[in-house]
Amino acid sequence: MKISLLQEAKALDFENKLKAYRDEFYLNDGQIYFDGNSLGLMSKRAEMALDYLTDSWKRYAIDGWTKGAYPWFTLSEKLAELSAPLIGAKKEEVIVTGSTTSNLHQLLATFFKPTEKRNKILADNLNFPTDIYAIKSKLEQHGLDPNSHFIQVESRDGHTIEEIDVIAAMREDVSIIILPSVLYRSGQILNMQQLTQEAHERGILIGFDLCHSIGAIPHDLSKWGVDFAFWCTYKHLNGGPGSVAGLYVNERHFGTAPGLAGWFGSDKNRQFDMSHTMTQAMTAGAYQMGTPHILSAAPLFGSLEIFHEVGIDAIRKRSLELTNFLMKLVEIELDGYGFTISNPREDHRRGAHVYLEHPEAARICKALKKVNVIPDFRTPRGIRLAPVALYNTAEEVYDMVQRLKNIMEHETYKEFSNAREIVS
Ligand SMILES: *Cc1c(COP(=O)(O)O)cnc(C)c1O
Repeated sequence: MKISLLQEAKALDFENKLKAYRDEFYLNDGQIYFDGNSLGLMSKRAEMALDYLTDSWKRYAIDGWTKGAYPWFTLSEKLAELSAPLIGAKKEEVIVTGSTTSNLHQLLATFFKPTEKRNKILADNLNFPTDIYAIKSKLEQHGLDPNSHFIQVESRDGHTIEEIDVIAAMREDVSIIILPSVLYRSGQILNMQQLTQEAHERGILIGFDLCHSIGAIPHDLSKWGVDFAFWCTYKHLNGGPGSVAGLYVNERHFGTAPGLAGWFGSDKNRQFDMSHTMTQAMTAGAYQMGTPHILSAAPLFGSLEIFHEVGIDAIRKRSLELTNFLMKLVEIELDGYGFTISNPREDHRRGAHVYLEHPEAARICKALKKVNVIPDFRTPRGIRLAPVALYNTAEEVYDMVQRLKNIMEHETYKEFSNAREIVS
């Protein structure tokens, strides 16, 4: 049995069309890194791009704004052009700027315009905390009580959100909907197309947090007519810690005044007129604020080039192969050890990670780290495992499951306390 599963892993890796890309990344010897959904690994191309841009500061000083292979003045727009195909958008609809959280603030400030009749924000009760904090603070800025103006659709099972429950909550007093594309814990993909259509039929704007889907699954935001979206670039996009984020605004909203205006949102030909009346860009670029964080955006030139070369469909195919193989091994090899697979099983509803649950999850994760497997723990009982299409192998999936089986068999997790670490 074991041999045949290992052979199956080897066969999957042999057939893998992306196998050459593993060598483009910095992997630690002997370590199985399954946390690319929290922080993607550094690629050699990302490192080269970063080196190039630090060097451009050395070499050009102030002239770096207009000189070199990646002039800083148009860097955010260039990166947007490279990002657009990953979400099915036109290049003008995307800008690389800010952070996930600051972009959500910007988009709410721009598009949440409460009226007498429509003054509520609709979200879910499983989304990442920062989104929830941003929404509540936005309501408070408008003098609206989050207890009465913030509707959070409840999950039925604690893991997933039913689209029909969201649709049922789309009442006529809802102004805007904010949802994740892929839920950060269970990895569920929400049906963005259906939700957008239903929202629009009711005159509601809808925006998605793409943190766990960009670089992992294909999107067709323009075609679906999604109003806006925002994401980070340090997870599946491998942009490095704190790398500059992105946002998308559908072209039908171009010209809407930015809620949080700044001079980098200007029409680029007019920015240096230094007028006190802003002429905003007629693109998503209007929602930038100040001077871009050049060095934190730099690695994206290298990492996005890889995505451009490989294409998101090939990445998705390999990712599904790896997560399917992982779920199969969990069922065969870890049967009887108390694990539950809590992500959706169907391909079209599953993002790029597997979500296991176990009452001893916190210390099982510590035991995994001790044997050189990097998972990530999500309180209270979740273990996220992301075998990443560009750099992980099916053989690593196999090895990881064997190490985990060993931990469970010998109960070595009991050497650790069942509490989370500061960053988990
Ligand atoms: C990672 C993540 C964030 C992080 O926001 P930052 O502003 O980059 O800290 C936000 N939302 C979701 C859904 C995430 O997964």
